[in-house]
Amino acid sequence: MPSPSILLSVVIPVYNEGAGVLDVLRAVEPPLRACAPSHEILFVDDGSQDDTWAFIRQVCDDRTGVRGIRLTRNFGKEAALWAGLAQARGQAVLVMDGDLQHPPALIPRMIELWQQTGVEVVEAIKMDRGNEKLLHRLGARAFYTLMNRLSGFGLERSSDFKLLDRRAVDQLLRLEERNLFFRGLVAWMGFERLQIPFSVPERAQGRSKWSFPKLAAFFTRSITSFSTLPLQLITLAGLLFLVFALVLGTKVFVQWWMGQAVEGFTTVILLLEIIGSLLMLSLGVIGLYLARIYEEVKRRPRSVIRETLPRSPSLPAASEAAPTDAAGLP
Ligand code: UDP
Ligand code: MG
Repeated sequence: MPSPSILLSVVIPVYNEGAGVLDVLRAVEPPLRACAPSHEILFVDDGSQDDTWAFIRQVCDDRTGVRGIRLTRNFGKEAALWAGLAQARGQAVLVMDGDLQHPPALIPRMIELWQQTGVEVVEAIKMDRGNEKLLHRLGARAFYTLMNRLSGFGLERSSDFKLLDRRAVDQLLRLEERNLFFRGLVAWMGFERLQIPFSVPERAQGRSKWSFPKLAAFFTRSITSFSTLPLQLITLAGLLFLVFALVLGTKVFVQWWMGQAVEGFTTVILLLEIIGSLLMLSLGVIGLYLARIYEEVKRRPRSVIRETLPRSPSLPAASEAAPTDAAGLP
């Protein structure tokens, strides 16, 4: 629901950022005041267990133009982001992290590019990945190389720091899938994208919310929602084993025909093990896709909103707010 009076909405998903909310607000307000005087800032609290919501409440009370959306529990960054996108009213929406790893100093340039060119997506591209652990860095490289091969979208340097024109936002909100991968879906939409490079600074405070299980889940979810190649690889492996089976079968048959006893108990054990693991791996891959289909067909909302601030007539109060889909669907 765009509003002609609001030029820009800034959506910031936060999870256990505590007083970091104040730091972000202090950092984004000056560039916004200068370049987009009519703006709103939306903090989406993704079920924080600390005092994040108390800080959001405080800034919503103190300032006009700051809004808060509180989800009932931790639904994950992408779901929080979608909840924010669905509530944003600006003609464009700027999406950024709440840990100051997306430098607010880029905001004026992003707005300027959007206004001058009318392009649907202005995105900040990572020149380096900041001070990440070696394992994290290697994992990220493997993930993006695979994603690039599988989906054809080069996302290696891509970040979630993006300015989306209303057309792009509406298009994103029309997507019905529950498994969301923001960067991938923005690339998938195919709109023209202008890119601005930036270096990732250190986190202002707190720690990255990515744990290994969360990363692993994100990895499989992103791959399976963008490519069916792993499924085709199973067919390929099956074909290879068929050829192998034919050759080996012929050999065994000829030996039997010539009256030779078939030898090679070790070979049999080895073959059993190889085929057994391959079968189970293949079942696992099919299972991953099945799980995705299961999640999608349930059509559950992506997140549930507990409370929105400020409580004004234009926004339903918490008690009246039916649990809505992040896309605004009942
Ligand atoms: N975040 C969130 N929900 C989560 C995890 C993270 O809303 O379940 C927010 C977090 O508060 C931050 C942004 O998403 O504003 C980026 O998270 P983080 O810094 O942990 O990711 P990284 O920068 O390490 O990729
Ligand atoms: Mg971060």
